[in-house]
Amino acid sequence: MKTIIEPFRIKSVEPIRLTTREERQQHLAATGYNLFGLPSEAVLIDLLTDSGTGAMSSLQWAAVMRGDESYAGSPSFYRFEAAVKNLMPFKHVIPTHQGRAAEAILFSIFGGAGRRIPSNTHFDTTRGNIEASGAIGDDLVIAEGKDPRSEHPFKGDMDLERLEAYLQQHAAEVPLVMITITNNAGGGQPVSLANIRAVAELAHRHGKPFVIDGCRFAENAWFIKSREPGQGGRSIEDIVRDCFSVADGMTMSAKKDAFGNIGGWLALNDDGLAEQARQHLIRTEGFPTYGGLAGRDLDALAQGLAEIVDEDYLRYRIRTNAYIVERLDAMGIPVVKPAGGHAVFVDARAWLSHIAPLQYPGQALAVALYETGGIRSCEIGTVMFGRQPDGSEKPAAMDLVRLAFPRRTYTQSHADYVVEVFEEVAVAKDRLAGYRIVSEPKLMRHFTCRFEKLGA
Ligand SMILES: *Cc1c(COP(=O)(O)O)cnc(C)c1O
Repeated sequence: MKTIIEPFRIKSVEPIRLTTREERQQHLAATGYNLFGLPSEAVLIDLLTDSGTGAMSSLQWAAVMRGDESYAGSPSFYRFEAAVKNLMPFKHVIPTHQGRAAEAILFSIFGGAGRRIPSNTHFDTTRGNIEASGAIGDDLVIAEGKDPRSEHPFKGDMDLERLEAYLQQHAAEVPLVMITITNNAGGGQPVSLANIRAVAELAHRHGKPFVIDGCRFAENAWFIKSREPGQGGRSIEDIVRDCFSVADGMTMSAKKDAFGNIGGWLALNDDGLAEQARQHLIRTEGFPTYGGLAGRDLDALAQGLAEIVDEDYLRYRIRTNAYIVERLDAMGIPVVKPAGGHAVFVDARAWLSHIAPLQYPGQALAVALYETGGIRSCEIGTVMFGRQPDGSEKPAAMDLVRLAFPRRTYTQSHADYVVEVFEEVAVAKDRLAGYRIVSEPKLMRHFTCRFEKLGA
């Protein structure tokens, strides 16, 4: 059969409602054109993030009822721990309320002034936790990973030569080596198994522990299975185990590839480090058999981990993005290729070339998608990264718009609708105006700043 279908049927539905263009314009005016300020009920298709927004299965909801809320020693924890260890063979599994809490604990141990932590590309909360500890985060992804047109199959790979030179140059400053799979901040691009193994080998040769940010481990394993020579005949579970068996630890946001609405964990092999981490956990998250989670959350995650490695699911998941990328590409819309795992990225700077980067072409496109069709996306460009620590402003490396897909939430006809909204935006795109920021907070301005449309 040629059609890749959604490998589930729908048991519980949540209505979504298309507002009128006038209603959407009113909402935009009320929030100062900032899509983070929209009430989500005024959004038809919400592609702001894939974090915690996916649909849980009937078995996950059943697991919620099974959850045991004992303060210590809950069977929910042991089911969760076994589900993690089944895929990631670490000695110690420490639950947290989200991925960033696991990062905060990791860098309370490994961070600090004078230290540097290399990765392919640090995710923003990872970088935030590294920098809050006083350390520096460095991104060493391969050059192809920064080229939106490159069709390299593993654009999330670490640049091994640069890592080798880096480890020689900064030998005393580097406490550990990280890698993010898939490379979220680099477009959700995958890392090959060969690269994971080579990075582990390099780290260990230099006496450094190797830690994986594993948020999208199953999507990454699917890319390994479908793109890496020699991996096609293997099961997703085996590939996942191979990825983590060369690591000394991992951080995880269970809001991604564990089908959770909330959750995370830190895993480590070293007994002493795990002891330190648990001390920190008790102070900031909770007792080690629940971390920052309820027993029902732990049970939902245990079931989610059993489901996420399903090949029918992963095929449908990855195909959704690839389908939209193909359709947009065929319309001449510049998109990041090949499609990543969890999101479609549109190169707004190239598509809306009449809008200067400092007039935020990504914001202009994101607003147009909402105004035209009720789609909420996210600018990843000069609004997000343009403000410099010295107060000046400069264009970000790229002006992208990200359409991130919640897991198991939308269907093929929703994907076709998204493409149709782009068709309608394309007709008038040369008349889209840029924006000016009229108020912004000191940090992370993209969440709350307000805009004015230029020439309006
Ligand atoms: C989401 C994410 C995190 C942070 O996890 P939260 O659960 O949102 O705190 C860290 N790294 C990557 C790659 C992520 O995608």
